[in-house]
Parts: sequence; structure tokens; C-alpha cells
Amino acid sequence: MKVALIGVGQAGGKVAERLTRFDAEMGFGAVQGALAVNSAEADLQSLEFADTLLIGADRVNGHGVGGDNELGTEVMQSDIQQVLGALDGRVTSSAEAIFVVAGLGGGTGSGGAPVLVHHLQQVYDVPVYTLGVLPGRNEGALYQANAGRSLKTLIREADSTLLIDNDAWHEQGESMDGAFETINGKIAQRVGLLFASGEAVEGVGESVVDSSEVINTLRAGGVSALGYATELASEDSAENINTAMSVSRQALLTGTSLPDATTAEAALLVIAGEPDRIPRKGVERARRWLEDETGSMQVRGGDFPLDSDRLGALVLLGGAERSDRVRAFMDRAREANRAQEREEERSDPAEQFADDRLENLF
Ligand code: GDP
Repeated sequence: MKVALIGVGQAGGKVAERLTRFDAEMGFGAVQGALAVNSAEADLQSLEFADTLLIGADRVNGHGVGGDNELGTEVMQSDIQQVLGALDGRVTSSAEAIFVVAGLGGGTGSGGAPVLVHHLQQVYDVPVYTLGVLPGRNEGALYQANAGRSLKTLIREADSTLLIDNDAWHEQGESMDGAFETINGKIAQRVGLLFASGEAVEGVGESVVDSSEVINTLRAGGVSALGYATELASEDSAENINTAMSVSRQALLTGTSLPDATTAEAALLVIAGEPDRIPRKGVERARRWLEDETGSMQVRGGDFPLDSDRLGALVLLGGAERSDRVRAFMDRAREANRAQEREEERSDPAEQFADDRLENLF
């Protein structure tokens, strides 16, 4: 699937850049172009693999919006024509989808991505998706509240929002920066494979996935999630029947970008590996298992030829918003929002004197 990437904010820019680099290093050619948009100049300067555009300079002078996602929305609204102008020539006629990439807990990406998606929908005919990073459980209340409002608006605007939970793909005991490196690498590999799996591969059998199957899986809208797992495979495909099942189970049950998301409107199962090692029977069995497990009647499937001694399963879920994880997150975001409002009331000196048992003098 040929895509154009637009990273908004710090996380958005870093993840878009990492994806572009992975796609180039693997020689997939799915990423047609990447643009990083930010109100913080320093964050843009650290990027090498993406074109950059500074927004909101008249308001925040290149210093970013802090964690203020309402300001993030405003600066994107003010400079939207510049952003759309910078995309001319990047979202070429060859792009089959646009992905807006953002961390949903911050300011520029959280507030700016929904505005950008809204405008892209009016300009382009191809689907506009979000790749959104959810704050981990230990990130503060402001992040949770920001992400809740951002996600709500994105669900309204985007054709689908692929969520990556910051708690999902990092190793125990890493520093925060180290964790981001690991997570971004995993996002690049998994989402990069998803893009590439929708690319035509020459000289390979009948079951290669087509871009339209990725798009149809995401057609349900709402939230989507991506899972991935690999295992060493035997050279004899008949011996890999159980391996195909076991990587598919792991991809859905423990390897997903949104823990506990297993209910979906639609799903896509891509088995990646050397064509000779891919067991037809195992793939069919895994696909039926995925139908049962997700409760979806629309499970698509296909192979992705990859030069590797491992067998991998990539599972894309479309319409996965009914998962417990999304519900728990939205509860947390609402609670954080209420706490923030109470805090604002407390810090307003007039509130302490709001009691009407004492009257003002005049
Ligand atoms: P913005 O620049 O104002 O849009 O804010 P950020 O992009 O820094 O958004 C903050 C959110 O993104 C928080 O939830 C962070 O945990 C997360 N975040 C920041 N940088 C990264 C990163 O490199 N990778 C990942 N996965 N998350 C990040």
C-alpha cells in the first residue's frame, strides 16, 4: 500500500521518520513521502529522514505549545493552508492512503492531528487514517485527558485510528527514552510490514495481500490495532502448521498494539516468511481461529514473501473500539479531565469565596 506520512508533534515526527527509514532500508518502497509538522523548532531539527514544517511561529515562536492541546488545535487551524501547501507533490497520485502520525497525549500532535485529518478529508479522495500513540498508564493526568479528547475527535474525523499503547511494546526496566527507541522501532517494523504487505510482489503465488484488503479491513472506522509475532520455522512447510497457528495466536493475544483488543468488525491475517515455508493448511486453520476469536465474519488473509528463516504473523483488527482497553482508557481520560477541572477551580482564588453565606459589600 503506497502511503504518505505526516507526523505531527514530537512523537509524530519521530515515528514517521522511523517508518520512512525502515521502509527505505528494507527496499519496500511503500512510503511515498514524509512530512513532519511541529510548533517546536528544536524537535524538527533533530529529524533527518523527513521534510519539516514549523507552524504557529507567530504564536509560540518555535517553542512548542507545552502540553496545551487546545493551543495545538489553534496553531494547526491558523496554519492549515501552509501545511496543505507543503503536501502538494508529496501526496502524489500514487498514494493510496494518508497516515497522520501523532502522540495523542501531548500538545501539538494531540490538538493538531484532528484538525489536519479533517482538512485532508476534504482535499483528498484516498482514506485518511491516524496512527496514534496512547500514553502509558504511568504518564500523568494531563496526558490522559489530552489523549481522551484527541481520540474522541479523531474517531469522528479519520477513516480509522490505529492505536499504539505506549505500554504495549516496550521492555521491562527501560528508561523512558530507551523505551521510546524500542517502541518506535517496533512500530516502524510492524506498521512498515503492513504497508509493504499491500504492495504487489512479483513472481509470487496467488495469495499476496492487496492494498484494497488493508483498506477494506479498516473500512469499519473507529479504532484499529495491529499485532505481530514470529517464530523460527522449519524448511519443510508441512512441519510449520502448528507454527502458523502459534504465531497467529501470539500476534493477537500478546503481541497487539492495544492490549486485550480481540473483538473486531474485521481482521486481516498476513503470514510472512519464505514462500516454501508457509503451510497452506496452517494458514487456513489460523484464519478460522481468528474468525472465532474476533467474532468477525470478515477475516481476510494472505502471504507476504520475506527472505527469513522465521515465520511471522501480522494481524490487523478493524473496528476494535469495543475492547476493554479502549473503555478503560476513556474512563481514565474522563477522570483525568474532571480532576483537571477541579484543580482549575481550586486555583481560582474567587472559588474559595464563592460561598454565599457571606455577601459582597457591593
Ligand atoms: P507534542 O510534540 O506536543 O505533540 O507532544 P509529544 O509528541 O511529545 O506527545 C507526548 C506523548 O507522546 C506522551 O504520551 C509521550 O509518552 C509520547 N511520546 C513522546 N515521544 C515519543 C516517542 O518517541 N515514541 C513514543 N512511542 N511515544 C512518544
